[in-house]
Amino acid sequence: MQNASELTWQTLRERYLIENKPLSPLLSIRTGGPARYFLEVQDSAVALRAWQLALEKNIPVLFLGSGSNLLLADEGFPGLVIHFGSGYADIVLKENRVFAQCGVTMKALSFFAADHGLKGLTFAAGIPGSLGGALLMNAGAYGGEMSQVVEAVACVDQNGRHLTLSREEAQLSYRHSRMMDEKLLILGATLVFEPGDKAQLYEEMAAYQTMRRDKQPLTYPSVGSFFKRPPGHFAGALIEQAGLKGLTIGGAQVSEKHAGFLINIGGATTRDFLDLKMEVQRRVMERFGVLLEPEVRIIGDEGR
Ligand SMILES: Cc1cc2nc3c(=O)[nH]c(=O)nc-3n(C[C@H](O)[C@H](O)[C@H](O)COP(=O)(O)OP(=O)(O)OC[C@H]3O[C@@H](n4cnc5c(N)ncnc54)[C@H](O)[C@@H]3O)c2cc1C
Repeated sequence: MQNASELTWQTLRERYLIENKPLSPLLSIRTGGPARYFLEVQDSAVALRAWQLALEKNIPVLFLGSGSNLLLADEGFPGLVIHFGSGYADIVLKENRVFAQCGVTMKALSFFAADHGLKGLTFAAGIPGSLGGALLMNAGAYGGEMSQVVEAVACVDQNGRHLTLSREEAQLSYRHSRMMDEKLLILGATLVFEPGDKAQLYEEMAAYQTMRRDKQPLTYPSVGSFFKRPPGHFAGALIEQAGLKGLTIGGAQVSEKHAGFLINIGGATTRDFLDLKMEVQRRVMERFGVLLEPEVRIIGDEGR
């Protein structure tokens, strides 16, 4: 195989890139157009070379994990989507530490930890994201969040420099991180755990799953909670109190089961979700004077 650093854009296109790849099947909300170029990562050297070449050519780049927190324009993404999935998902265990590549799913990682009697990730078993996305977002649930288990995050910056950020340096806060601000690529992370009782860990994960099934509209495509929790409030409660449950635009609807979820009831477009988002924001602002900020990452059409 040719050394990745010697790849040209032309050879990359011929050997590795898929052109005009539909993305909606890869996004949990099931909307959005195609990627102009798409790379399925098996090898980080090829991904880094592709990123470098795209930057040189002024081609925009989007990193994609499990696609569970993305709303992508109906026109699609005009650049290169670099997808970290099952081809980049190794997990290595050393005593109470785990190093995992960014493509591993949070479900697999949570079960891996429980299987080895490691406590700290039960909250994440039902989060349908990858490790990369979970770190970028500092994903959390039921009192847990990624910051509690992260020891170090392996990243690459736009100049191709590899950085290892400590937990403090990663600046993980509510659905926010330094990696987000600096548009860093997250290659993986070392997580550190307390010892735990396996049976209790499985029980906790099962209990959280039951709570999710009871409270969340999991049978419809969505991105989970669409809005962040505004300080002092819950987005879902404000939306419900504003009388917006069931509000529908096109195929996008405020869930009757959990008002914090905007769901795809069939055939929705990203435009439907953007219009519904604005209407919900407008009516919650009017009623309570609170701005609901999206938790979902909106790609390509934010300005409207
Ligand atoms: C039913 C449902 C329930 C959910 N419940 C929760 C919950 O309880 N708690 C919670 O926090 N979230 C929840 N989410 C939202 C979502 O699962 C999380 O935000 C998750 O962490 C996103 O990970 P992902 O791999 O799917 O990211 P993606 O959607 O693929 O990407 C999200 C962002 O991360 C970036 N990204 C992805 N991988 C990398 C990488 N390797 N390097 C740099 N950037 C990267 C993307 O560019 C994008 O900006 C839920 C979603 C759904 C659909």
